[in-house]
Amino acid sequence: MWLIENEPGIEGYLRLEISRFGHKFKPKTFATLRQAWLEQASANPLNGAILGNAASFIVWNDFETASELFERAYNLQPHEGWLGLFVIYCNSQLWSLPELYSDKIRKQIIDVGLRSLETESGGAPFLTCEYVSDAALSLGYYDIVRKCAKELRDWDQTICEQMANGFLGLVALRENNRSLAVQLMLEMKRGYQPQEVIFRLARELFDLGERESIIQLIKSFKRKVRTSARNRWLNQVENDERPDFDDWCVCSACMAKEAALKQAK
Ligand SMILES: [Zn+2]
Repeated sequence: MWLIENEPGIEGYLRLEISRFGHKFKPKTFATLRQAWLEQASANPLNGAILGNAASFIVWNDFETASELFERAYNLQPHEGWLGLFVIYCNSQLWSLPELYSDKIRKQIIDVGLRSLETESGGAPFLTCEYVSDAALSLGYYDIVRKCAKELRDWDQTICEQMANGFLGLVALRENNRSLAVQLMLEMKRGYQPQEVIFRLARELFDLGERESIIQLIKSFKRKVRTSARNRWLNQVENDERPDFDDWCVCSACMAKEAALKQAK
């Protein structure tokens, strides 16, 4: 409460805390704090920082009001990355709202995300590209997926380039170009990592009857996935089961978790 009344336009690290705290309060406290933020917003209608911070707090349970505040913050501060932040919340709405609203949210993700990619710098544009591509793929807007893929490639980072391949592969499948999809899935350059969009492409290809190329993909990950995961996936394909593509990560945190689980057994 002190923060809202005294430093409503705060920037930097604490600004991120505002959005993280929003969902920690009980409904009654949240309502009081929400009201305090709205009062700040109406007292400072031309202060983008305050509008954006208010939006970041409120977004957890009043998406409509927050949407409007994010848009106003962006208009006042077009280079602060408000849309890049907003699109993350739009994307999380996909999980919390009933299916009925999904397409409406997807259109909003595309609208907000594309404006962010075109006009804002900084932030996490690969995340924005991922959300926009995902939404556009679901809606069948393949040209938008291609546009994002181009954007991803232009950053010249292998992992983004590979993400672009994954999405283009999913488009290729939907356009009945299975051989292109396989080719994109199997492209392995130095620095390529196992990642969700590639697994998704592999799952869809598996369902279409693809086997050899999936085995090739699994083998090509080499030591980037756990040996236990690789063997399990190869066994699954062998048994005509779709590989789960779970529990593969070799980072120290995941390996420690795995070791603790084993010990518990
Ligand atoms: Zn990990």
